[in-house]
Amino acid sequence: TLIAGVVAVQGDVSEHADAIRRAGRAHGEDVVVHEIRQSGTVPECDVLLLPGGESTAISRLLHDEGIAPEIVAHVDAGKPLLATCAGLIVASRDAKDDRVRELDVLDVSVDRNAFGRQKDSFEAPLDVAGLDDPFPAVFIRAPVIDDVGDDVEVLASWDDNPVAVKQGAVVGTSFHPELTTDSRVHDLAFFDSVAVDA
Ligand code: GLN
Repeated sequence: TLIAGVVAVQGDVSEHADAIRRAGRAHGEDVVVHEIRQSGTVPECDVLLLPGGESTAISRLLHDEGIAPEIVAHVDAGKPLLATCAGLIVASRDAKDDRVRELDVLDVSVDRNAFGRQKDSFEAPLDVAGLDDPFPAVFIRAPVIDDVGDDVEVLASWDDNPVAVKQGAVVGTSFHPELTTDSRVHDLAFFDSVAVDA
């Protein structure tokens, strides 16, 4: 049994819970989902999902509830984390916004809402390293990743900007893999150990 913690202080929680259950089923793995609203639950989890939503609200609540240091400890222990959209912003080293307290578990800097200025929301077929066919990537007021550290692998780019990255057991996406029934990003975050040539 895999215990999956979905950070549930704000954002698209049920979609992530469904997505990790679906990915588990495809791999013959029993998934138990814990929704994380207070401290004490993260240490029980094998893997974590940090949803999209509103990054200022998510980061504030994570710190208020004492969940933030538990997520950092989870990552420090080498356990998997998938962070999408607002979750990616919260996980980043630098979101360039005083209202976001970053977890700094992923060595990237992001520009909040950068795609949004051009185009609010769109879906695009995205080539992702390790996947045979394009992934249907849903972008909703998505952040742009504008700087990646040396230990970060870029898994996918759109308009010359990275939109899917991996560092150790942490995967971050600007888009929302939980909003499609295609589980391949959850697969590569949690079930396949992908070796990607950077
Ligand atoms: N733009 C949002 C933020 O900065 C993220 C949008 C999303 O998660 N779909 O929090």
